[in-house]
Amino acid sequence: MSRVGFVLRLNRAANALLPEVESYWDFNVPTRRIVHVLPDYLEKTPRGGTDGLVSRKDSRPRKGVSQRLPRGARKRQSQARRGWDPDARRRAWLADETGTILRSAPTTIGLCYPNPYHTAMSSLGYQVIYRMMNQRSTIAAERIVLPDDVSEHQRRRQAPLSIESGRPLADFDLLAFSVAYDLDITGFFELLSLGGVPILRAERQPYHPPVILGGPLTASNALPFGPFIDLAVIGDGEIAVARLLDAIEEADSREDFLERADGVDGVWIPELHGDRVPAVQKVSVGVLPAVGQIVTRHTELSNMFLIESSRGCPRFCKFCLVRSRESPMREPELERVMAHIPEWAPRVGFVGAAVSEWSGIREALRRVIAMGKGVGVSSLRADRLDEEFVQLLAQGGYKTMTVASDAPSQRLRNTMAKGIKTRHLLNAARLGRAAGMKRLKLYVIIGIPGETQDDIDELIAFTKECAAIMPTALGVSPLVPKLHTPLGDAAFAGVAHIDRTLKKLRRALGGIAELRSTSAKWAWVEYRMSQGGQDAGPAALAAWRAGGGYRAWATAMQEVEERGALRAAERFELWPAAGMR
Ligand code: SF4
Repeated sequence: MSRVGFVLRLNRAANALLPEVESYWDFNVPTRRIVHVLPDYLEKTPRGGTDGLVSRKDSRPRKGVSQRLPRGARKRQSQARRGWDPDARRRAWLADETGTILRSAPTTIGLCYPNPYHTAMSSLGYQVIYRMMNQRSTIAAERIVLPDDVSEHQRRRQAPLSIESGRPLADFDLLAFSVAYDLDITGFFELLSLGGVPILRAERQPYHPPVILGGPLTASNALPFGPFIDLAVIGDGEIAVARLLDAIEEADSREDFLERADGVDGVWIPELHGDRVPAVQKVSVGVLPAVGQIVTRHTELSNMFLIESSRGCPRFCKFCLVRSRESPMREPELERVMAHIPEWAPRVGFVGAAVSEWSGIREALRRVIAMGKGVGVSSLRADRLDEEFVQLLAQGGYKTMTVASDAPSQRLRNTMAKGIKTRHLLNAARLGRAAGMKRLKLYVIIGIPGETQDDIDELIAFTKECAAIMPTALGVSPLVPKLHTPLGDAAFAGVAHIDRTLKKLRRALGGIAELRSTSAKWAWVEYRMSQGGQDAGPAALAAWRAGGGYRAWATAMQEVEERGALRAAERFELWPAAGMR
């Protein structure tokens, strides 16, 4: 019997054996059993479920419901007392979440995030797909995140458990990964390996769940994941994922599923398409805004309800993927955005590559603050700031003014078409100080083509000027040329060059500004992955298996074509290697 059909049938049989349960609060059930939610719980709740789905906080048992401990609970309690109990940890996360969806359905999807919970729950896209999947009556999706303590899981041979029901990763009918960043590939390996699912697609058996990929990385370069996945959704997922869910519901085998998925726009199936990756999907403004589902304090964006105020950007910075892969900017109307903000949310985070360009941002901030909530804005352009805007941010709880220079000098900002002047950045610092903010965070890219020592000297002098206005932290990243941008075929500046620049900055700014930087060596590894073809995938796997240190990566990459993705694009005339000049 074929893969999907085989696994689905097993699960349907198992579900039929489970008794119907009334209470869904008891997370002490044995991990192999699912916490079920009866269909009549799937109704609009006053607090969490934004789309008619149940919020876990509203599914607590009423008084008088039996709290007798189920089989195995005492053993787990004693494990928790001894200090290491992943089941207790996930239950603790659940207890602090609002918006969790608990349900059962014939088909189960493990929605995997190759980073720990703290990072995963700040991903708006991950939350959107979680809700989308759970809106299907035949599908139940549960979250699986990379454990904080991978080595302990390895030592104890403990599989990653889903957050909702504690189901082990390999028990799902299908695994869907959301990947944001090239080097998340190691978290992808860790999760599959810990879960006992072969990493290479060719080594998986019919009883293993198919593996699909989505997330922001797919708009950049998904090729290195080719040998490991059954398919990927390239770009915006809202439409393509809906079509894939249809295919999952209708398919009776893995092959049937892939055949149905083959006709879906934006779906890349490596074993059928080879290196021919389809065009990136861009949904229309009618699909927006994307809205968060779960609020928790255990995340980077603590207790913040996320909502996407715009997608894309109207600017044209030459190093930026958003310019080519996510533009044009799509702006939902203010009222449509505001209508999604729930009363119970303590803080509201407006998400987008260009939030300060959104025409509704000031009014949105005014209204959210008037509701007594805190605010967060995922991106600020210094030239959009004035006294009123910065005062609103401060009233919404902002303590740090965060802006991007993105090049070390005015000359290079001009070359990169950044459109920001030194005076805008200094003005942002002054406005932040006047509004009572405590710190300036300034992001800058080094290793840009044509960069000279004069540019770095200008950065040093400018940072000192900022530090004289308010305490300043300089976040420095080496340029990693990304495909599909005008700098897509630019050279990486080199580890030695980047290290020399960082050393110079540290020496000049020590005691004046805090310096945080991405290591030159890891920027090189990221560069190789972001430019790599499918052969970069097995090399990454070899590096990970060899311990994952820089040496292991450098050795593994020796046999890999440096510009594999560009060559593939040229072969199939997918897009101009030079990007959009
Ligand atoms: S760097 Fe920022 S302003 Fe420039 S194109 Fe990208 S998102 Fe837009």
